[in-house]
Amino acid sequence: MTTILKDYVDQAKRVVVFTGAGISTESGIPDFRSPGGLWTQNKPIYFQDFMASEAMRVEAWQRKFNMDDTFTNAQPNAGHMAIARLVQSGKVTSVITQNIDNLHQDSGIPDERIVELHGNTTYAKCLDCSTRHEIEFVRAGFEQAGTPPPCSKCGGILKTATISFGQSMPEEEMLRAEAATLACDLFIAIGSSLVVYPAAGFPIIAKQNGAALIIINREETELDEIADLVLNTEAGPTLSALLPHN
Ligand code: NAD
Ligand code: ZN
Repeated sequence: MTTILKDYVDQAKRVVVFTGAGISTESGIPDFRSPGGLWTQNKPIYFQDFMASEAMRVEAWQRKFNMDDTFTNAQPNAGHMAIARLVQSGKVTSVITQNIDNLHQDSGIPDERIVELHGNTTYAKCLDCSTRHEIEFVRAGFEQAGTPPPCSKCGGILKTATISFGQSMPEEEMLRAEAATLACDLFIAIGSSLVVYPAAGFPIIAKQNGAALIIINREETELDEIADLVLNTEAGPTLSALLPHN
């Protein structure tokens, strides 16, 4: 099956890679929907609830600090590195990710090739003035006061720079993702259950626009039936097999 994958990639001119939490499980970051995944441990906090009460903001930041060792110690794995090589060679034009872990950047892919649909959890942003704040700043204030500190510039609410359920999607990223999707002739979705919209709409747009669609995911996904090829395999080894030395 991986030789068929390689044929698709070899024949394509412009490939878009679309990733979900499954690309990062081999780096030690649990996904949402696998057994024992984050979803089963904590129900997500909706944006409206985060805004509505300080208790929820305390809860959200406490969870973030509890998870932080996992995120800060994680390194890009073989799957991330293989994608980085394919970007470097010019084969992959864009990496659209639902992940918030910064591992595609850490693998050496330039920012202009990455579209983060759901933001980034490795820093915080003020919800009023958008000023970036480091997690350490928030953590120090939180440990002192028991609540997250306000924005040092305008006094606004600080939140990790992620997009929560109920929060509007980032406009520029949505436009960049759409442009890349419409320009590709092969779209590869990797490690995503493809149930979270609007993100999961991109593979559909690619397919409708005439691109081939490949899904690489340990389990079945919602969009398997429209895919040209489905590989129920581990992301890291599958992507490594695409590199020239293999
Ligand atoms: P998901 O948890 O819904 O789906 C992940 C899929 O990846 C599952 O179907 C699972 O079978 C598969 N998978 C897990 N490990 C794999 C591997 N090594 N190889 C191949 N497949 C593997 O994730 P999603 O679709 O990305 O949606 C979850 C949402 O949660 C996203 O919006 C994302 O923002 C967020 N999230 C991000 C991270 C992260 O940044 N690493 C982690 C958890 C959740
Ligand atoms: Zn501010």
